[in-house]
Amino acid sequence: MSAPDLITTIGMEVHLHLATRTKMFCPCEVRYDAPPNSCVCPVCLGMPGVLPVMNGRAVELAVRMAIGLGCTIPAFAKWDRKHYYYPDLPKNYQISEYDEPLGLGGHLDVELDGETFRVGITRVHLEEDAGKLMHAEDGSNVSVVDLNRTGTPLLEVVSEPDIQSAAQARAYGEALRQLAVYLGVGHCNMQLGQMRFEPNISLKIGDGPDGSGGQPRYTPITEIKNLNSFRSVERACAFEIARHRDEFAADPAGYTLENQGKSTRGWNDDRGVSFLMRSKEEAHDYRYFPEPDLVPFVPAPEWVDKIRADMPETPSQKRYKLVTTYRLSPYEVDVLVSDPDLSDFSEEVLRNAQDSSTAAGLIMTEGLRFVNERDKPISKLFKPGDVAAVSDMIFSGEISRSVAPHVFVQLVETGKSAADIVRDENLAQTSDEGELERVVDEVIRENPGPAQDFAEGKDKAVGRLIGMAKQKTGGKANPNVVREILIRKLRG
Ligand SMILES: [Zn+2]
Repeated sequence: MSAPDLITTIGMEVHLHLATRTKMFCPCEVRYDAPPNSCVCPVCLGMPGVLPVMNGRAVELAVRMAIGLGCTIPAFAKWDRKHYYYPDLPKNYQISEYDEPLGLGGHLDVELDGETFRVGITRVHLEEDAGKLMHAEDGSNVSVVDLNRTGTPLLEVVSEPDIQSAAQARAYGEALRQLAVYLGVGHCNMQLGQMRFEPNISLKIGDGPDGSGGQPRYTPITEIKNLNSFRSVERACAFEIARHRDEFAADPAGYTLENQGKSTRGWNDDRGVSFLMRSKEEAHDYRYFPEPDLVPFVPAPEWVDKIRADMPETPSQKRYKLVTTYRLSPYEVDVLVSDPDLSDFSEEVLRNAQDSSTAAGLIMTEGLRFVNERDKPISKLFKPGDVAAVSDMIFSGEISRSVAPHVFVQLVETGKSAADIVRDENLAQTSDEGELERVVDEVIRENPGPAQDFAEGKDKAVGRLIGMAKQKTGGKANPNVVREILIRKLRG
């Protein structure tokens, strides 16, 4: 019997901080730059006798994300206590939503290498983050805790196990981040720990009916905790997929979900390996029970309708618009839609430019160079009208593409308009035939060899001659006009 096919199945749990000013159940500010333990109060410190008060803005953002993922918003959701003991959790329980979350059953369409795949969304729920425990690395065996993060509104998005490769896992994470940023739900800054990923990895053993009539079998599910970059998501998934394959090959009968259950693993990014943390807790280990200090969440239908009506544009809506209206390539669209500021800016440029392809090319090269160098959004560096004007001047032949980098530097440095820069610095291409004829005559006289080659039909020589003409005019000779003159003069 040949070895059965092994099909990768990954479900992802994603946590992200909501973009609220204050915490989930108290008025403490959410800050990432504050001194340790300075943004805390009796509520988030879990003192006896305090009462939590729900942050309405957090609930609104969570519902917005759930709608953006195509989820149903149930008429009733409730808060539960999830119990566990850990030094970064002073209450010894986390307020979460267990069996009745605020969003159910949606999906996210994800683009990867020009193809789209769909990932089902099981649920979206709201909870509070824990604090941060830090262990000294000097061997002193000391740990310290910072509770500023305790109680930060945390959205959890749980997907169906529809992801089929490490690359898809990464693309899904990126698409989810993009959606959250577009919708204004979260800032999702990975360095600040505002977004974290936990893939659940298992391989389906065989595909379709195996002749036994039984349920499909799977390798034991492993959950990788707390990945905080897209790169680590992809690497950790690839590592686990390979590890599952090896374990299964070594013991096809024993390495199954039925035999071994679930386990939780950590990821060592430096060494590029996962390691066993613990066999997985089951829900009953957490002793969930309804939170008695908070009323259930019963959203008014008009309130949900209002959020739906006020939804910002999603990345896929923007993508569709750029493809259909401006005929950009999938690659151009991927780049321009990657960030809401960039995509709004690009749309404004494209609306005003004569040629979409020239305009998109300028944004992607000259524009993004400055975005990366200065670490600023493009809308803070340039005016869309200036970029459209540069694009039009190139498209009409008024300036050469090769002066664009200089014009962009001047746009940032001087704040002058594109038209003023081109005029003041006399950057317009020379198409004046009379002047160019004189220049070409000079070039032919000074370069008899290449001129002779070109006259005899060697096309390669023309580049050299045009280059000389550009040099003589300080880069302003219109190469097409020079080429025409050369052909006329040397080939009759
Ligand atoms: Zn507080």
